[in-house]
Amino acid sequence: VMSKNKSSESVKVVVRCRPLNQKDESNGPAGGIVQMDLRLGQVILRNPRAPASEPQKTFTFDAVYDANSKQRDLYDESVRPLIDSVLAGFNGTIFAYGQTGTGKTYTMQGVWMDPEKRGVIPNAFDHIFTHISRSQSDKQYLVRASYLEIYLEEIRDLLDPKHGSTRGLELRENPESGVYVRDLTSCVCKSIKEIEEVMNMGNQARAVGATDMNEHSSRSHALFLITVECSQPGPDGRKHIRVGRLNLVDLAGSERQAKTGVQGERLKEAAKINLSLSALGNVISALADGRSGHVPYRDSKLTRLLQDSLGGNAKTVMVATLGPASQHYDETLTTLRYANRAKNIQNQPRVNEDPKDALLREFQMEIARLRAQLNHRRWRSKQKREQADGDGWDEDAEGEEDMVEKEAEDYVKLEEQRLEMEKEAIRGDQFMLAEEKQRLLGEKERMMGDLRKEQEATEQLTAKYKAMESKLLVGGKNIIDHTNEQQKMLEMKRQEIAEQTRKEREIQQQVLIQDEETLELRETFTSLQQEVEAKTKKLKKLYAKLQCIKAEIQDVNDEHVRSRQELEQTQNELTRELKFKYLIIENFIPPEEKNKIMNRLTFDPEEDQWRFQPLVPAERSVAHDLLTFLLSTSPALLLPLCSHPPLLLT
Ligand code: ADP
Ligand code: MG
Repeated sequence: VMSKNKSSESVKVVVRCRPLNQKDESNGPAGGIVQMDLRLGQVILRNPRAPASEPQKTFTFDAVYDANSKQRDLYDESVRPLIDSVLAGFNGTIFAYGQTGTGKTYTMQGVWMDPEKRGVIPNAFDHIFTHISRSQSDKQYLVRASYLEIYLEEIRDLLDPKHGSTRGLELRENPESGVYVRDLTSCVCKSIKEIEEVMNMGNQARAVGATDMNEHSSRSHALFLITVECSQPGPDGRKHIRVGRLNLVDLAGSERQAKTGVQGERLKEAAKINLSLSALGNVISALADGRSGHVPYRDSKLTRLLQDSLGGNAKTVMVATLGPASQHYDETLTTLRYANRAKNIQNQPRVNEDPKDALLREFQMEIARLRAQLNHRRWRSKQKREQADGDGWDEDAEGEEDMVEKEAEDYVKLEEQRLEMEKEAIRGDQFMLAEEKQRLLGEKERMMGDLRKEQEATEQLTAKYKAMESKLLVGGKNIIDHTNEQQKMLEMKRQEIAEQTRKEREIQQQVLIQDEETLELRETFTSLQQEVEAKTKKLKKLYAKLQCIKAEIQDVNDEHVRSRQELEQTQNELTRELKFKYLIIENFIPPEEKNKIMNRLTFDPEEDQWRFQPLVPAERSVAHDLLTFLLSTSPALLLPLCSHPPLLLT
């Protein structure tokens, strides 16, 4: 069984550079700073401020996509294999990382209306449902989608119409399926159209309330989650379920948030915006390093949600996006370093086989239960019918549900007619006492009511059964595949070519490494002169390499110093604010009130934050009101009240 095979594989990292645009051209010197070698999968970065003699920086990735790259190329080469794995029951993640305006959203979503420009997500939708429509008919599928956003360290459910008014959702952990979001809406999708509607709904919810959509999307992380459950009978005759979970992630812009001159709420906000991304960076560093035992997943919502995707049970693709403009050299270099580090992360993907929480299993059981109930009802009413009139109903209608339903309807109509006739007869009976008449009529009335209720209940049950059953997709059945044979052939060819390109690049990269390492060791020299020449060449090469690495070390150090300074600055600001709050507490809140409040605080380790226990019974205190006031008001509005003892505030 594949699930036993705990092989490890690294995170795939690809880099994409968007075309130069007018803004780039008008803001800086013309010409890009990013060059790409598609065959080798290399990015060559030119430092616009460095002298021409300084060697350029070269990075190698699993694949690179330049300004001319097509959405389809990226999908076929770098995403398709991942989605295939998800369909086979693996967890898969693809995330877009990069500075705002470099093409994360273009890569993930693209232009929905233009078939050439559709991004990873719409292509994945097509891929998943086409796969289901072409699979064998003994397979049953259940596809679900969720859509969430992390903004200021709060998780917002984009499919919940009320998400704007409620508190952020909480994370929970479960040994079987890992970290999940509690109460997250999940929509069963039966077709491409339905899942696109879900996506649209979420995108609209995302835009609502954002005063500036560009700014909002550059500061929030969007996660679209698809779960594909597939059941298929195994050799043992039992149905086995495989569950593939796919995370499609459009991260917040990776650029540094300017913190200078920002204070108070804005400062906290700025710190929170960066929190998830810097935590992601720390997690990647810790994993790539391999030596540090502790991986700080718990530092942010994003890293907890992506825990499986980084160093865990998942196959992961990272798309790092770059802009070619020279004024963004620093950010571009940072992105490339980040991406370069991520290559070293090892994951242990395995097929999720028969997990206890598979929804498909629950659905199958519920469908079987409803079916049994329905059959029982039908059998019962059939018996009644046979008792009522001995002329025998059509025996072989059993099994054909429509027939059975029709029959039941006819039976109810006939029964109603019969009861109506009986009632008429009672009404017309002149020898019966009025009282007796009334009683008999009531009885018939009740029988009619019962009959209708029974019929209604059956109808409801049938509707429920049908609704439930319609959620499951059967291989090769529910979705009609309009593609003709020729198109299918073309698709296959394209996939083969993509596979070929990938293999060739791998070989090229290996040859390159071997060239550097071994070739010259085996060389024999015919003359001393020749040996000197060869060794001088080699020396020059190595010297250049040394210079590169030295520059690299300098750069990394500079970066370290910069982020350290920023952290220190944030720390100073926060300490200042803390002192200010302490000052207020000490001057305005009597110690016993303070203690009361302190006692109400509990730490929620799951959420990693402090919570306020509600007062039981609801009792109000000056200190409490003051504290609420303090928490809700800008500190600048508070007047120094030292001359007014707090008790006077009553
Ligand atoms: P991000 O999501 O990273 O902030 P966007 O995806 O919004 O960036 O891209 C910024 C702009 O650049 C958009 O107008 C987008 O259409 C364009 N763009 C990005 N990548 C490409 C590309 N590969 N080809 C053509 N246009 C692109
Ligand atoms: Mg975007």
